[in-house]
Amino acid sequence: MTANDKPSSTPSADRPGRLFVVAGPSGVGKGTLIRRLIGRWPFYLSVSATTRPPRPGEIHGRDYIFLADDEFDRWLAEDRFLEWNQHFDHRYGTPRQAVEDQITAGRDVVLEIEVEGAGQVRRNDPDAIFIFIEPPSLETLERRLSARGDTSDVAARLARARRELALAPDYDHRIVNDVLEDAAARLLSVFADPEGSQHDHPAD
Ligand code: ADP
Ligand code: 5GP
Repeated sequence: MTANDKPSSTPSADRPGRLFVVAGPSGVGKGTLIRRLIGRWPFYLSVSATTRPPRPGEIHGRDYIFLADDEFDRWLAEDRFLEWNQHFDHRYGTPRQAVEDQITAGRDVVLEIEVEGAGQVRRNDPDAIFIFIEPPSLETLERRLSARGDTSDVAARLARARRELALAPDYDHRIVNDVLEDAAARLLSVFADPEGSQHDHPAD
């Protein structure tokens, strides 16, 4: 089952859906955590557009909308992105229409994006709920990036991660992804009750 198959329960149509922004450094486990909630909470996982080539196993339209550079330019000119950013060698953006349609239909929407894009969403939609995923330590982040094995620029990603981690205090919620199931349970509790679990930050 993928995130965007039929939801496991029907959201209430009497209120618009909420927008959850899950951000944090590359390799911290955002994708792993969000996928762990599939079937445990009904949400639409935004499918980003990107100019990077697909990795083995990735499917156009499910994992990303893979665009050529000139197509990305056209989407930009047509104002089709809710936010977008250049991340290392490639551009990534959130298609606006799908997000707006789902929210209007009363379905919660999750964006899994990097911190610069999250900042753009905050400027345009301060009511969105911002969640920062943190690694237990930079050493752990390095191990995860290396273990994933899809990037040779681990050092560049770690340097960027240091800068990104400094932004964590701006977020409504911070979740340390140490034991996966514990972090998934925390994320689920934020989805279920974003205001109720407000003061659960780790010590700064
Ligand atoms: P992101 O989406 O933030 O870039 P991923 O979800 O791709 O990160 O996770 C990066 C790597 O770390 C993957 O190999 C994943 O299996 C692993 N990982 C994620 N969370 C944990 C965890 N809590 N404990 C151990 N390994 C993890
Ligand atoms: P990857 O190439 O590893 O799939 O993604 C690289 C980074 O881009 C990750 O941190 C991911 O969260 C981020 N990302 C993916 N889609 C988007 C998007 O639509 N907008 C922004 N700003 N970042 C994105």
